[in-house]
Amino acid sequence: MFIELTDLLRCAGDHADGHLVVATGEMRNRRITRGMIGCPVCNAEYWVEKGVARFGATDRTEMTDDADRTAAAPDAAAIHAFLGLGGPGGYVALVGTATRAAHALGQLLGDVHLVGINAPDGVFPDTMFSLLESPGFIPLRTASVRGVVVGGERANEKWLSEAARVVLPGQRIVVLSDKGEAPGIERMASGPGVWVGVKRETGKGKGEK
Ligand SMILES: [Zn+2]
Repeated sequence: MFIELTDLLRCAGDHADGHLVVATGEMRNRRITRGMIGCPVCNAEYWVEKGVARFGATDRTEMTDDADRTAAAPDAAAIHAFLGLGGPGGYVALVGTATRAAHALGQLLGDVHLVGINAPDGVFPDTMFSLLESPGFIPLRTASVRGVVVGGERANEKWLSEAARVVLPGQRIVVLSDKGEAPGIERMASGPGVWVGVKRETGKGKGEK
């Protein structure tokens, strides 16, 4: 996990966003390969193992919806176009099977760090791609990322609400499914198996800044 990503992380505890602290066990090129992440508010502890920060055991049954595990990676060029990002910097989150597009999307986005949540087997982190695991939420702070791409198997209320929460106002979420809607997200366009929405600038959702 990229060390600077620590500033964006959110605890699983039911309390307001607060800064987490990292005790690094092992680091390589500004990436934590092994360590502990602690929450000063509720004293929760999370472990980084093999570069993956774990905020709880993932629900593997969610992956059974991903009928074809050998399916081709999502079309990174299309995702890139739907995200509509100009300029370098910041973070884009990829949820579930959307992480399969990480490497190709990273090449298109350039200097934007990607954060994968609950990647399927066979997806590995690299210098511009961090991996997190979490049972039911996106362990990132509210309004912290420039875009979110949600795998089709997670186009449900739980994950889309989380995508809507973490994306910055005025920025987009891309959902690799025909289904789903999210609070505070206005659908802009859709195509076969994909839709894109923008977070309203005037959103006054709970916890929003
Ligand atoms: Zn906490």
